[in-house]
Amino acid sequence: MTECAHAEARWELATDEDGWACDCGKLGFRPDLDAELIEEKVGAVLFWLAHHDVVSVSNGTTGDYIVANVAQAARKAGRYDQYTIVSLILSDPNLAGHAEYWAKRSAEWLDAEREGRGHEKPVDQVLRESGMRSLFEGVF
Ligand SMILES: [Zn+2]
Repeated sequence: MTECAHAEARWELATDEDGWACDCGKLGFRPDLDAELIEEKVGAVLFWLAHHDVVSVSNGTTGDYIVANVAQAARKAGRYDQYTIVSLILSDPNLAGHAEYWAKRSAEWLDAEREGRGHEKPVDQVLRESGMRSLFEGVF
C-alpha cells in the first residue's frame, strides 16, 4: 500500500490552525499544507463566510478570483492563519464597496425617517427580491 500524499486534503475550520484532514485521516496542524494548499484553506474559509451570510459572493468565478487574490497575498506575507485569511478576504477588491453602499443606504433611510417620508426600496433590492439581480450583476 502506498502512502497517501494528501493531495485531496481539505481544511476544516479551526482556530488552533489544526484543521487539515484527508480521507486517510485527521492531519491537524500542518504548516507545509498551509503553504502548499493555501487555495484550499482560503476556499474553505470563504465558503463558510458566504454560507453563513457574512459576505456575499455573487458567483463562482468571483469566488475563484477572491481565493486566488487572497492566496497570493497570504503567500507574499508568509501568513497562512485563519485570521489573516479572513482579513484578506474582507479587504479583497471583489468585496469592496459594501461598506460605502450600506453607509449610503443607511443615510438615505435615516433622511427619509427624519423627513417623515416612506422608505423606498432601491432598484437593486427590488430586482434581487424578484430573482432578477443576477441579470444586472455589475450594473449597480
Ligand atoms: Zn491523506
